[in-house]
Amino acid sequence: TSTLIPRADHPISRKDISRGALHVLYGLHEAGYDAFLVGGCLRDLLTGVPPKDFDVVTNARPEEVERLFRGARVIGRRFKLVHVRHRGEIIEVATFRALSDDRDDERLVKLSKDGQILRDNVYGSIEEDALRRDFTVNALYYDIADFSLHDFADSLHDIEQRTLRLIGEPEQRYREDPVRMIRAIRFQAKLGFELDPATAAPITAMAPLLAQVPAARLFEEVLKLFLSGHALATLDGLRAHDLLEPLLPLTATAMRDKDGGVDLTFLEAAMRNTDRRLADDKPVTPAFLFAVLLWPAVRRRFQRALDQGMPPVQAMSKAAGDVVVQQVNRVAIPRRFSSVMREIWDLQLRLPRRQGQRAAQLMEHPRFRAAYDFLLLREEAGEIAPGLGQWWTDYQDADPETRDEMAQQVR
Ligand code: ATP
Ligand code: MG
Repeated sequence: TSTLIPRADHPISRKDISRGALHVLYGLHEAGYDAFLVGGCLRDLLTGVPPKDFDVVTNARPEEVERLFRGARVIGRRFKLVHVRHRGEIIEVATFRALSDDRDDERLVKLSKDGQILRDNVYGSIEEDALRRDFTVNALYYDIADFSLHDFADSLHDIEQRTLRLIGEPEQRYREDPVRMIRAIRFQAKLGFELDPATAAPITAMAPLLAQVPAARLFEEVLKLFLSGHALATLDGLRAHDLLEPLLPLTATAMRDKDGGVDLTFLEAAMRNTDRRLADDKPVTPAFLFAVLLWPAVRRRFQRALDQGMPPVQAMSKAAGDVVVQQVNRVAIPRRFSSVMREIWDLQLRLPRRQGQRAAQLMEHPRFRAAYDFLLLREEAGEIAPGLGQWWTDYQDADPETRDEMAQQVR
């Protein structure tokens, strides 16, 4: 079942499409191949959201695409794709794929014991390509041959209704790829779409399947979740469907404590802050993000170590070390980020100590700004008494003489 919507009956215009994507679409078309835009970019354009990137699909094989364009390169982990570079833009070109029934051919499709897809390189028709996609709203095609839309899954209807609906049988689709549960929350938050009840229902029960997804892939997914510009809505969505537990188990546990309300306030303040920064085109680093997300667990372990009589610097080091070691099993945070996270946490101990030359020295620390932002969030959440943040705000605004006076007056 497929519907064809001619150019006159839909609003997608070539003006909306990036130069790089048009270059690739026309290049394929002129070489005699089928060429379509697909997925997120069309969903976004029809929703009034600027697309992040434009994905192209074709019946040309990756090697054929590579031969066709200068600056093209076959890449591929889970499946082969071609990246075409065009004037600083990178266009991802995929070949139509099917979910083959021939599950015995391990070269092409590889499933784990529990039905997870590990490899998926069976080429297929455009219709098969549509039906293996995750949500109906991600399965629309724009044909460069005649500028029509091809709809195989009632995609247009669901985009108009702003409904996220998995294609096919939800439980099976989540089993094939548990990351689809996270994607559901990401799109819900980013687009403000509703999850269709049948798509939402199995998530809580199936959330533990995320433990089987490689930690490196989950790192990428968690970043996308919280750097979408809708981190606060994302956090709500994850909590509502019990998805925090498999991604950030230590955080989830900490928040169930009796003073977990402070942690929720802290995380929500941080998510709001993240969204505001992204809206202002300011950077949000993965290190800062994970420093925030893991703080509920770190501060508890820190307190426990203090209670056992450990000196503060050691207590923080132990707390941070324990949390990072356990967390990276689930979500692989690269060391270049975890070392910065630990600096941000360590500085929470140093920011109160401002006497004499210390304040001036602290300001020179490469993580001072991040640590100061972090401190403000802790105060905003009521985790620590207010005052120190304002002191540092004033200090940074002050001229050198006033700064000296301020530092002398600290007791
Ligand atoms: P974004 O705006 O975040 O880029 P997107 O829809 O483009 O959203 P991508 O992760 O770039 O998302 O994926 C591109 C397309 O590939 C999706 O629109 C969807 O059709 C398909 N896809 C991606 N991930 C999956 C998955 N896990 N299972 C099935 N289809 C997927
Ligand atoms: Mg995309």
